[in-house]
Amino acid sequence: MRMLRHAPVLALLAAALVAAAPNPTPTPDHHDRKPNDVFRLRPLSGGVYALYGRGGNIGFFVGADAVVVVDSEFKDIAPGILAQIRSVTDKPIKYLVNTHHHGDHTGGNEAFQSFAVIIAHDSVRRRMLESPQRILAEYPKELEEAKKAGNAEDVKFLEDAIAWAKKVKIEEIAAPVVTFDSELRIHVGGETIEVWHTPPAHTDGDSVIFFTHANVIHMGDLYFHDMVPFIDVSSGGSARGYLAAIDKVLARVPPNVTVIPGHGEVSDLAGLKAARQFVVDLLEAARTARAAGKTKEQFLAAADLPAYRSFDGYKDRFKGAAAIAWDETATKP
Ligand SMILES: [Zn+2]
Repeated sequence: MRMLRHAPVLALLAAALVAAAPNPTPTPDHHDRKPNDVFRLRPLSGGVYALYGRGGNIGFFVGADAVVVVDSEFKDIAPGILAQIRSVTDKPIKYLVNTHHHGDHTGGNEAFQSFAVIIAHDSVRRRMLESPQRILAEYPKELEEAKKAGNAEDVKFLEDAIAWAKKVKIEEIAAPVVTFDSELRIHVGGETIEVWHTPPAHTDGDSVIFFTHANVIHMGDLYFHDMVPFIDVSSGGSARGYLAAIDKVLARVPPNVTVIPGHGEVSDLAGLKAARQFVVDLLEAARTARAAGKTKEQFLAAADLPAYRSFDGYKDRFKGAAAIAWDETATKP
């Protein structure tokens, strides 16, 4: 779990700035796993599986004649992702949908592009293709600061990113080749897979993927399960947007839907509502502090939501989320 300060999250790169899913502990039902295996496969309903690895959770659907995959984690583990899918089916993988552009959800795209159509919101393609320029514009300053602070891990990440940005050719970036602005549907056998763009929340290119017959929805990073969400304001994200985005989903899915979060364990609508409530409570705390005449500095110094202290990332990311909530409560509502 690492994050640079401004978190530009440029993200075609192996070291994403957002929360990595915790390494799963081996489970007794997978006797053949190697001890250092990063993967854990969980069958859900209707041919849909959740695949935990390193980075954003993967979901995939095995249909009568094709496989549809949601997100691709990182380049270095992409061969393992394919092997995990192959462990349950030899049907062709025809579509890969990216929930958003971050590197822990799109880093493995390259491994799919020769056989799968990569699909995402318009903004995902744009942000992936502009990432080398953004790295070259923003990272050198970050690198200086990381060197000054003696943060070896950040120095390495930034140096690698800059080296990559200098040499990558735009056509080498495995960005989505089918993009959309609002919604699309993928029809595979008897399953209809709906892809909905939501109001900007985690980024401005967020989509959720709803497997309508299986009754499973992949939320991407609109849902961090029992974790403080990372809100990528520099990529158009917004705390208030989280509420609008989650509300759009709540209005359209059945109450018993199974929910795959972007990070953390598979969950349900109660879990998703709890994640929404965190954002509600955070915005409310900022409003209360404003009403009491506090400055942003005073608010951040005192900000604490005890009910959420057990959330993963509370220590590292809570103040960052609080600062965003403060900035977004300057105006009503
Ligand atoms: Zn993300």
